[in-house]
Amino acid sequence: MLKTKDILDEKDKRLRKKNTDVTFPLTKEEKKLIKDMLEHLHLSQIEKYATKYNLRPGMGLAAPQVGLNKNFFVVCHEESENVFHNYVLINPKMISHSEELIYSSAGEGCLSVNRDVEGIVPRYARVSFEGYDEEGNLVKYRAREELSIVFQHELDHLNGILFFDHIDPKDPYKNADIMREI
Ligand code: ZN
Repeated sequence: MLKTKDILDEKDKRLRKKNTDVTFPLTKEEKKLIKDMLEHLHLSQIEKYATKYNLRPGMGLAAPQVGLNKNFFVVCHEESENVFHNYVLINPKMISHSEELIYSSAGEGCLSVNRDVEGIVPRYARVSFEGYDEEGNLVKYRAREELSIVFQHELDHLNGILFFDHIDPKDPYKNADIMREI
Protein backbone atom coordinates (compact mmCIF):
# COMPACT_ATOMS: atom_id res chain seq x y z
CA MET A 1 0.00 0.00 0.00
CA LEU A 2 0.96 3.60 -0.53
CA LYS A 3 2.44 5.02 2.67
CA THR A 4 2.46 8.58 3.91
CA LYS A 5 6.21 8.74 3.24
CA ASP A 6 5.60 7.88 -0.44
CA ILE A 7 3.89 11.25 -0.92
CA LEU A 8 6.31 14.01 -1.85
CA ASP A 9 6.70 17.02 0.39
CA GLU A 10 6.07 20.53 -0.93
CA LYS A 11 9.81 21.23 -1.15
CA ASP A 12 10.39 18.41 -3.63
CA LYS A 13 11.14 19.87 -7.06
CA ARG A 14 9.23 17.10 -8.83
CA LEU A 15 6.03 18.85 -7.72
CA ARG A 16 7.02 21.83 -9.85
CA LYS A 17 8.07 19.94 -12.97
CA LYS A 18 6.22 19.71 -16.24
CA ASN A 19 3.99 16.66 -16.55
CA THR A 20 3.50 14.73 -19.75
CA ASP A 21 0.32 13.20 -21.13
CA VAL A 22 -0.36 9.55 -20.47
CA THR A 23 -0.49 7.20 -23.46
CA PHE A 24 -2.83 4.22 -23.73
CA PRO A 25 -2.94 1.43 -22.86
CA LEU A 26 -1.67 2.21 -19.38
CA THR A 27 1.33 0.27 -18.14
CA LYS A 28 0.92 -2.24 -15.34
CA GLU A 29 2.78 0.15 -13.04
CA GLU A 30 0.45 3.04 -13.86
CA LYS A 31 -2.61 0.87 -13.20
CA LYS A 32 -1.21 -0.29 -9.88
CA LEU A 33 -0.32 3.24 -8.86
CA ILE A 34 -3.86 4.46 -9.56
CA LYS A 35 -5.28 1.61 -7.47
CA ASP A 36 -2.85 2.34 -4.62
CA MET A 37 -3.56 6.09 -4.70
CA LEU A 38 -7.31 5.48 -4.47
CA GLU A 39 -6.85 2.96 -1.67
CA HIS A 40 -4.73 5.44 0.26
CA LEU A 41 -7.36 8.18 -0.07
CA HIS A 42 -10.18 5.85 0.87
CA LEU A 43 -8.48 4.51 3.99
CA SER A 44 -7.33 7.99 4.98
CA GLN A 45 -10.95 9.10 5.28
CA ILE A 46 -11.92 6.24 7.59
CA GLU A 47 -10.81 7.10 11.09
CA LYS A 48 -9.84 3.62 12.24
CA TYR A 49 -7.52 3.09 9.25
CA ALA A 50 -6.20 6.63 9.31
CA THR A 51 -5.10 6.01 12.90
CA LYS A 52 -3.82 2.50 12.26
CA TYR A 53 -1.67 3.50 9.27
CA ASN A 54 -0.96 7.06 10.37
CA LEU A 55 -2.62 8.69 7.36
CA ARG A 56 -3.69 12.29 6.97
CA PRO A 57 -7.20 12.47 5.55
CA GLY A 58 -7.19 13.46 1.90
CA MET A 59 -9.63 13.42 -0.99
CA GLY A 60 -7.31 13.79 -3.96
CA LEU A 61 -3.87 12.88 -5.20
CA ALA A 62 -2.12 13.82 -8.43
CA ALA A 63 0.56 11.65 -10.06
CA PRO A 64 3.43 14.12 -9.45
CA GLN A 65 2.73 13.89 -5.70
CA VAL A 66 3.83 10.27 -5.80
CA GLY A 67 6.83 11.02 -8.01
CA LEU A 68 5.38 10.32 -11.45
CA ASN A 69 5.38 13.39 -13.69
CA LYS A 70 2.37 12.42 -15.74
CA ASN A 71 -1.01 14.06 -16.30
CA PHE A 72 -3.51 12.28 -14.13
CA PHE A 73 -5.16 12.55 -10.77
CA VAL A 74 -7.55 10.54 -8.65
CA VAL A 75 -10.23 11.62 -6.19
CA CYS A 76 -12.08 9.62 -3.56
CA HIS A 77 -15.13 11.57 -2.46
CA GLU A 78 -17.47 10.62 0.36
CA GLU A 79 -20.84 11.39 -1.23
CA SER A 80 -22.86 10.42 1.80
CA GLU A 81 -22.08 8.64 5.06
CA ASN A 82 -19.60 5.85 4.22
CA VAL A 83 -20.43 5.95 0.51
CA PHE A 84 -17.35 6.79 -1.51
CA HIS A 85 -17.08 7.56 -5.18
CA ASN A 86 -13.77 7.19 -7.02
CA TYR A 87 -12.77 9.43 -9.89
CA VAL A 88 -9.83 8.77 -12.18
CA LEU A 89 -9.02 11.59 -14.60
CA ILE A 90 -6.27 11.02 -17.13
CA ASN A 91 -5.02 13.89 -19.32
CA PRO A 92 -7.78 16.05 -17.80
CA LYS A 93 -8.99 19.45 -18.96
CA MET A 94 -11.36 21.91 -17.37
CA ILE A 95 -13.83 22.61 -20.17
CA SER A 96 -16.09 25.12 -18.42
CA HIS A 97 -16.67 26.78 -15.06
CA SER A 98 -19.10 29.03 -13.23
CA GLU A 99 -18.47 32.70 -12.74
CA GLU A 100 -19.23 32.33 -9.06
CA LEU A 101 -16.23 31.84 -6.81
CA ILE A 102 -16.09 29.96 -3.53
CA TYR A 103 -13.47 29.14 -0.94
CA SER A 104 -13.19 26.61 1.81
CA SER A 105 -13.67 28.20 5.23
CA ALA A 106 -11.46 25.53 6.81
CA GLY A 107 -8.66 26.51 4.43
CA GLU A 108 -7.38 24.18 1.77
CA GLY A 109 -5.14 21.27 2.62
CA CYS A 110 -2.79 19.11 0.62
CA LEU A 111 -1.16 15.78 1.39
CA SER A 112 2.13 17.31 0.21
CA VAL A 113 1.88 20.28 2.58
CA ASN A 114 2.52 19.29 6.17
CA ARG A 115 1.80 22.58 7.87
CA ASP A 116 -1.13 24.91 8.36
CA VAL A 117 -1.42 27.61 5.76
CA GLU A 118 -3.58 30.64 6.51
CA GLY A 119 -5.67 32.21 3.84
CA ILE A 120 -8.28 31.66 1.21
CA VAL A 121 -7.92 30.03 -2.16
CA PRO A 122 -10.46 31.28 -4.71
CA ARG A 123 -12.05 28.46 -6.70
CA TYR A 124 -14.91 28.18 -9.16
CA ALA A 125 -18.14 27.02 -7.52
CA ARG A 126 -18.92 24.65 -10.40
CA VAL A 127 -16.69 23.08 -13.04
CA SER A 128 -16.91 20.63 -15.93
CA PHE A 129 -13.96 18.39 -16.57
CA GLU A 130 -13.13 16.08 -19.41
CA GLY A 131 -10.49 13.39 -19.45
CA TYR A 132 -9.97 9.69 -19.94
CA ASP A 133 -10.56 6.74 -17.68
CA GLU A 134 -8.07 3.89 -17.21
CA GLU A 135 -9.32 2.13 -20.34
CA GLY A 136 -8.90 5.23 -22.48
CA ASN A 137 -12.61 6.10 -22.67
CA LEU A 138 -13.53 9.77 -22.75
CA VAL A 139 -15.21 10.77 -19.48
CA LYS A 140 -16.93 13.99 -18.45
CA TYR A 141 -17.67 15.07 -14.91
CA ARG A 142 -19.43 18.00 -13.39
CA ALA A 143 -18.39 18.97 -9.91
CA ARG A 144 -19.71 21.52 -7.47
CA GLU A 145 -18.78 22.87 -4.06
CA GLU A 146 -16.16 20.78 -2.22
CA LEU A 147 -15.67 18.37 -5.13
CA SER A 148 -15.18 21.30 -7.50
CA ILE A 149 -12.42 22.62 -5.21
CA VAL A 150 -10.72 19.22 -5.19
CA PHE A 151 -10.80 18.90 -8.99
CA GLN A 152 -9.26 22.36 -9.40
CA HIS A 153 -6.67 21.67 -6.69
CA GLU A 154 -5.59 18.44 -8.41
CA LEU A 155 -5.49 20.03 -11.87
CA ASP A 156 -3.20 22.68 -10.41
CA HIS A 157 -0.78 19.92 -9.34
CA LEU A 158 -0.53 18.85 -12.99
CA ASN A 159 0.54 22.40 -13.80
CA GLY A 160 3.09 22.52 -10.98
CA ILE A 161 0.91 24.79 -8.85
CA LEU A 162 0.41 24.32 -5.10
CA PHE A 163 -2.69 25.74 -3.40
CA PHE A 164 -0.81 28.36 -1.38
CA ASP A 165 0.52 29.90 -4.62
CA HIS A 166 -2.98 31.42 -4.89
CA ILE A 167 -2.73 33.10 -1.47
CA ASP A 168 -1.32 36.59 -1.14
CA PRO A 169 0.96 36.29 1.92
CA LYS A 170 0.56 40.00 2.68
CA ASP A 171 -3.22 39.81 2.58
CA PRO A 172 -4.28 36.15 2.90
CA TYR A 173 -8.00 36.96 3.14
CA LYS A 174 -8.05 39.29 0.15
CA ASN A 175 -11.38 39.41 -1.75
CA ALA A 176 -13.06 37.02 0.71
CA ASP A 177 -16.05 39.41 0.74
CA ILE A 178 -16.81 38.82 -2.95
CA MET A 179 -16.75 35.03 -2.64
CA ARG A 180 -19.02 32.51 -1.03
CA GLU A 181 -17.59 30.57 1.88
CA ILE A 182 -18.33 26.86 2.01
ZN1 ZN B 1 -2.49 18.81 -3.14
